[in-house]
Amino acid sequence: MVYEMDLDTLRHSASHIMAQAVQELYPGTKLGIGPSIENGFYYDFDREETFTPDDLSKIEARMLEIILKNLRFERKDIGKDEAKDLFRKKGEDYKLELIEGIEDNKVSIYTNGNFADLCKGPHVNSTGQVKAFKLLSIAGAYWKGNEKNRMLQRIYGTAFEREEELQEYIRLLEEAKLRDHRKLGVQLDYFSMHEEIGAGLVLYHPKGALLRSIIEDFEKKEHLKRGYQLVISPHIMKSDIWVQSGHYEYYKEHMYIFEIEGKEYAIKPMNCPGHMLVYKTRIRSYRDLPIRYFELGSVYRHEKSGVLHGLLRVRGFTQDDAHIFCTKEDLINEIKNVLDFAIETMKVFGFDNFEVEISTKPEKYIGSEEDWDSATGALKGSLEEKGISYSINEGEGAFYGPKIDIKLKDAIGRSWQCATIQCDFALSERFDLKYVGQDGITYRPIMLHRVLLGSMERFIGALLEHYAGALPLWLAPVQVIVLPITSKTHDYAEHVKRLLEEKDIRVELDGRNEKIGFKIREAQLQKIPYMLIIGEKEAQGLSVSVRMRSGGDQGAVGIDQFIESIVLEIKEKR
Ligand SMILES: [Zn+2]
Ligand SMILES: [Zn+2]
Repeated sequence: MVYEMDLDTLRHSASHIMAQAVQELYPGTKLGIGPSIENGFYYDFDREETFTPDDLSKIEARMLEIILKNLRFERKDIGKDEAKDLFRKKGEDYKLELIEGIEDNKVSIYTNGNFADLCKGPHVNSTGQVKAFKLLSIAGAYWKGNEKNRMLQRIYGTAFEREEELQEYIRLLEEAKLRDHRKLGVQLDYFSMHEEIGAGLVLYHPKGALLRSIIEDFEKKEHLKRGYQLVISPHIMKSDIWVQSGHYEYYKEHMYIFEIEGKEYAIKPMNCPGHMLVYKTRIRSYRDLPIRYFELGSVYRHEKSGVLHGLLRVRGFTQDDAHIFCTKEDLINEIKNVLDFAIETMKVFGFDNFEVEISTKPEKYIGSEEDWDSATGALKGSLEEKGISYSINEGEGAFYGPKIDIKLKDAIGRSWQCATIQCDFALSERFDLKYVGQDGITYRPIMLHRVLLGSMERFIGALLEHYAGALPLWLAPVQVIVLPITSKTHDYAEHVKRLLEEKDIRVELDGRNEKIGFKIREAQLQKIPYMLIIGEKEAQGLSVSVRMRSGGDQGAVGIDQFIESIVLEIKEKR
């Protein structure tokens, strides 16, 4: 923990040095804000000319000069008026706006050399302590994240204590670029997004759609096995229900709302209301609980265009969503079951490492203080009983309850939001959910919202990047491709394809009149796990020559033997 705080301080200090360098090199550039972020820092600049990659090298060189001067970061607390004068003289309009927003009568200023910035701190002692740094990229960012405001230029950079750490980070960034799911999505022909449809909306191509249905079929089966029931709810619902659920009040800015025949509707941003209405269609007794409704529910949420990113941040997505209705006594047990389910599911998909976080009560919330305390206690208790370590995100919970988030770690150490288990005492109140207890008295059930993989879109993005596109056999949309060397062996190749299809193996035949080397290279680019090369020798011996996408050759094996081994490999989800 201490280490991370130091790293934040180091990176934030580097952002001051960058701002200083920029203003020295490009006088008149106005400053926005310059915080440290996960993996680095940024600063927002307002400047007429656009920064180029060449500028980044110049800024880096100037930063190095500032670092070599080893200027002290000095803090001064001054009155608001004095601060306003200072920044007005500098023409720093954004800083003036920030000062207006500060409630205190005093503000703190940090100076290093001739450079002064409005800042709460903390910083390292002097610029010389920032040793290993690099500027990484330039992006547009609206002032205060609001598209009505002016677009500023954001320069991202990173800093580490040691040069080796910086080099390792840069290596990982390069590796991440190669795995970028947006690039792989095009290369593997899985999905596309189109301006004509709108930003953040995904079109699945046949192979991507197949991958998604493989995941979804697996999930449906697992849920049924574990005592969940499938339900399906419509994509639009009248606004009345969103008023009742509280979304209209707390979440409206993210909802698509429209009017038909004088009635207002919203496209569902969440699946909860439908599930609660199903619950309410009968009188429930303690004997019926827990009730677990599962839906692969497509939801639409308005996200600002600036935050959209490939499949990771989209406006339309499908959740593997479930709502569990249980008694207070069952709560811990249900949370433990979901934890097991989530962790086992992630393992099946090849993710063995994960991080767990609990998010607690935010500023805007519904429900009582006691409800929040007992729900948060149940989440912590379940994790502790299972011996899973966790961190706390103070104030980061959803408005209706505290939650557990599980973030999986991918092959190159990045974390991806995955499962969420969310307690909710408030919604069962709002929807007047009931069950009859053993004593004949009516009680409120507790409701859990939970997703395992989260958004199908984001999870597919994570899968593609984790495996760099080379999905495990059981998930690969095309598992085997049959490659006849010449047209003479085409009939036998067809025969092999049919035999595989009979065993439900997803197989394609590349019967084009192309050189075999070309066909193999193409299949490798498509990351197809197995290539079966068919020449005359194979046709005569009823065999196939097996080649793996990794380049390994298994040589000729009997067709029956190949089928037997691949069926086993698929069954074991390798
Ligand atoms: Zn600062
Ligand atoms: Zn829900």
